[in-house]
Amino acid sequence: MRLRNIRGSREAIAENEYTVKSPESLKGRWNECFGNDAPLRLEIGCGKGRFIKELAKRERNVNFVGIEKYSSVLIRALEKLDEEDTNLRFIRMDAEVICDCFGENEADRIYLNFSDPWPKEKHAKRRLESRQFLERYRGILKKDGLIEFKTDNTGLFEFALEEAEFMKEYYEMVECTRDLHNDARLMEGNVMTEYEERFSAMGNPICKYILRRL
Ligand code: SAM
Repeated sequence: MRLRNIRGSREAIAENEYTVKSPESLKGRWNECFGNDAPLRLEIGCGKGRFIKELAKRERNVNFVGIEKYSSVLIRALEKLDEEDTNLRFIRMDAEVICDCFGENEADRIYLNFSDPWPKEKHAKRRLESRQFLERYRGILKKDGLIEFKTDNTGLFEFALEEAEFMKEYYEMVECTRDLHNDARLMEGNVMTEYEERFSAMGNPICKYILRRL
């Protein structure tokens, strides 16, 4: 999802009070940004932010950070935020440098929703579920912290399962379904993302896994 050339989006993001401009300076100190010691949860590739904005409203006692690579997309996430959204912030950055911005044991959950598939094999390490990214997440997730991943892309899901198996010394698979929307237990509290709504309406089954950091 890349909305090209939204004029002034970089500047608007730089001025917005919900975006963090120097996330590296908060590494290990995100509690200071939020002014409390609540758990910290990240969505990587948050797109227009529908999922994380809804989660932040439902769980006021948790802090949320949405990470998105493109200004032209993130600018849309910043719409309709209000003074109640004190537990939500956004960063415009490539998640490749996530370990520069969050300290060891700092995050208690990471959400990956409908990540870009990067179909060419030579780009596999760019996939947010690759072993390279799982290694980065290991550097910032608490023990027993979770990674929750949803997609309708079966090829990407199979890849993600293989990568999780490769990292089994560090992660345990605690949930896995290839048809989330027909699993009443896992659907409890499910928050739909923009892509989830679009692809499930087309009849595509939604896959989900949850990994626990050992
Ligand atoms: N999560 C949203 C949803 O489910 O509706 C958006 C899905 S969209 C297909 C994937 C998003 O991830 C895009 O907005 C893309 O720019 C972002 N993204 C991909 N790779 C990223 C990276 N390395 N760091 C940050 N964002 C990334």
